[in-house]
Amino acid sequence: MWEDNIRRVVPYTPGEQPGRRVIKLNTNECPYPPSEKVIRALKEADYESLRLYPDPLCLKLRERIADYYGIGPENTFVGVGSDDVLSMCFLAFFAGKLPVLFPDITYSFYDVWAAVYGIPCKEIPLAEDFSIRLGDYPHENGGIVICNPNAPTGVVHPLSEIEEFVKKHDESVIIVDEAYIDFGGESAVRLIGKYENLAVVRTMSKSRALAGLRVGYAFGSKKLIGYLNDVKFSVNSYTMNLPSLVGAAAAMEDEEYFQEILGRIIKTRSRVSEELRSLGFRFRESGSNFVFVTHPEKDAEEIFEKLRERDIFVRHFNRERIRNYLRISIGTDEEMVILIKALGEILGKKGADE
Ligand code: PMP
Repeated sequence: MWEDNIRRVVPYTPGEQPGRRVIKLNTNECPYPPSEKVIRALKEADYESLRLYPDPLCLKLRERIADYYGIGPENTFVGVGSDDVLSMCFLAFFAGKLPVLFPDITYSFYDVWAAVYGIPCKEIPLAEDFSIRLGDYPHENGGIVICNPNAPTGVVHPLSEIEEFVKKHDESVIIVDEAYIDFGGESAVRLIGKYENLAVVRTMSKSRALAGLRVGYAFGSKKLIGYLNDVKFSVNSYTMNLPSLVGAAAAMEDEEYFQEILGRIIKTRSRVSEELRSLGFRFRESGSNFVFVTHPEKDAEEIFEKLRERDIFVRHFNRERIRNYLRISIGTDEEMVILIKALGEILGKKGADE
């Protein structure tokens, strides 16, 4: 009988974390370590203060992030990874009766949050070329979520299109998930202050190499951030622990290292893209730290399995429209050389063994 009272949900499936040394290109982590400044700040943190609750307002971290982007701390929210931030956004902003809209192919957590919070939602199909049909979103909606660059496609929309969209849908809250924007695209952060209905969500997991620290953040109008805080403080006031607060603040202070690892990843992406094309893979130019590829002669799942046998982990989504695609995170140059060689072998390309 007790099971009648259980909330039943189909959870999100995170990428595998194998727990042993493999070539891990399945969850878009940064292949480089975090900044030395982060490591030092974590070593030097005042751990005696662990007996106290952390600052529920996360003021210092919010100030640091807000300064970096040239906006106010009152426009800034932080959470336990952008998954936590997005989940709070769904809970806070989407309490209406009309369906919340997002693309059919996008971050597969959106429909899970909608389901767990009982939010009606509707998927709007991507175009054939995987771009988001920004013109196809009906005016009547309970809110909209756009991932830019989109995941898992890597397709980026220019800021001008995003702005046009936010302006057009001024009666809806628009969440722009920018988990990958640092790898190629212009952030909608610049629109904060201009549009009260816009929330931009970012993460330190990818471009700041801090997936393990769990820090995400959001920008929005003071009003929107106020509503988000009301919900956060109705669920858990102390979301951010001491190491997260200290480490994340330090990460914002090392611009040089940030630019260096971004540059490296982007360079590797362009080299690997060329190599994948010469192996016959087809894909759109990626604006993120992964490529989303398909091969006309070989089934994606088969490639996925064969890579796995070689301890190379990439991501395959068993989902309509993208079953024959693989999402491959950009690793180090050394890792990508091994990947390309393995793919050459799997595809039986001449010269792969030379
Ligand atoms: N948004 C998108 C599009 C993502 O791919 C991810 C990573 N899985 C996230 C948000 C969440 O990342 P995190 O919780 O590590 O910030």
